[in-house]
Parts: sequence; structure tokens; C-alpha cells
Amino acid sequence: MDCIFCKIVTNTIQAVKVYEDAEFVAFLDIHPVRPGHTLVVPKVHYARFDVTPPEVVAKLWQVAQKVAAGVSRATQADGYNISINNGRAAGQVIWHTHVHIIPRVSSDGLDLWPQSEYQGSEAERVAQAIRQAIKIS
Ligand code: 5GP
Ligand code: ZN
Repeated sequence: MDCIFCKIVTNTIQAVKVYEDAEFVAFLDIHPVRPGHTLVVPKVHYARFDVTPPEVVAKLWQVAQKVAAGVSRATQADGYNISINNGRAAGQVIWHTHVHIIPRVSSDGLDLWPQSEYQGSEAERVAQAIRQAIKIS
């Protein structure tokens, strides 16, 4: 399969690995938001988060929590952002499920989430639609 992360898993292409077990590998992002920016991937290929089996998702987040603790300690971070970009509109460019861990310090000046306000009944309308959708999913 023509997937960069599958090739990293099999060592067909190089990456700076920081953790590996039977099912997951973690390596430095080649274009870090901040030094230590790490990606955690399942060794089995799933194109995106929403098609990744729930049991893999559960283990992926357990591994990500452990790797994040190491990233945080090693980079003397005050915190970290941990996230998945699911789908092109969300910024996903590599179609192999992966968790981003981005170590943060209070003084780093990054502002990742421009936020807005709900108007009128918009919050209740969108919440109702989400409640319904969760029921049928
Ligand atoms: P996405 O936008 O899909 O959530 O994130 C993909 C990430 O993979 C990007 O942050 C990008 O810098 C990183 N990346 C892309 N190609 C490579 C590569 O060949 N090696 C490594 N280590 N990271 C990569
Ligand atoms: Zn893959």
C-alpha cells in the first residue's frame, strides 16, 4: 500500500521513533509545531479515525497518554495538545490514523483555537441535531 506511515511502521522509510510495541509506534513529526511534536500510529492501516475499530481506538489513546507523559517530561513542557485530524476539512493529509502530541509551554505564544459565540437558539438547535445523530450512529 502506498502509505507513508505504513512504510514507517515497516522501516521502509526512516523516522525518528520514540516508542514501539507490538501494535503501535510513535515517532517525531517531520514538520513539528514545536520540538518534540510526536505522532502515535497503529501498525495496522486505518485511513481515518472514524473507521478505526473501537478496540484499537481504546488502546491507541492508552499508548498516546503514556507517550505524551514522556514527551511532556522530556521537553519540560507545562502541558500538551493531543488531537486527531479526522478528514480533509479538519486538516488530515496522511490517510493513516494518527494522534498528534504537541508539547506546550505557557510562553510559546501559540493560539490554536479561534473561538466564536452562539447566536439566539443556535446552540439548542445544533445540540438537538447532535443528540439525534448519536442515537442512530
Ligand atoms: P495530519 O495533518 O494528517 O493530521 O498530520 C500528518 C502529519 O504527518 C503532519 O504534521 C506532517 O508533518 C507529518 N508527516 C508527513 N509526512 C511525514 C513523514 O514522512 N515523516 C514524518 N515523521 N512525519 C510526516
Ligand atoms: Zn498506512
